Amino acid sequence: MSDLAQLYQQIILDHSRQRTGEGLADAAGLPSAENHQYNPTCGDEINLRVTLDAAGERVEAVTWEGDGCSISMAAASVLAESAPGLGRAEFQELVDRFREMLHSRGKVEPDAELLGDAAAFAGVSKFVARIKCAMLAWVAAEEAAREAGARAGSA
Ligand code: ZN
Repeated sequence: MSDLAQLYQQIILDHSRQRTGEGLADAAGLPSAENHQYNPTCGDEINLRVTLDAAGERVEAVTWEGDGCSISMAAASVLAESAPGLGRAEFQELVDRFREMLHSRGKVEPDAELLGDAAAFAGVSKFVARIKCAMLAWVAAEEAAREAGARAGSA
């Protein structure tokens, strides 16, 4: 195994054990939305909440509770660590890049600068059955961010 592959595997392992954002937090009056996703192929399940800032422009927090394989749990943890502070458009950009990398079958070199620890999931793209595991939390967050944004706009 290459040094980089080894490093990436370590990042996934660390995040599956030390999970950032685990435990649904109260939105404390800020615009927020929850989303539930289930991956029947693997049995992964997640309930995730995106909380925006008062203006509805930035991601304030991502919290979640879930049960599933280490890839799905690690992907949720990396997401919860990466998203806070990003503007909504920046966040969508991050989700798009992550999705693109996972569907590239290993052909797209991950943009490590933009993706940060999320680049560690590059190797997953070679295993079609595991892509849904890695995407689970990200799809939930994408939906929740959109809904929270709509709520902030109508408030
Ligand atoms: Zn899984």
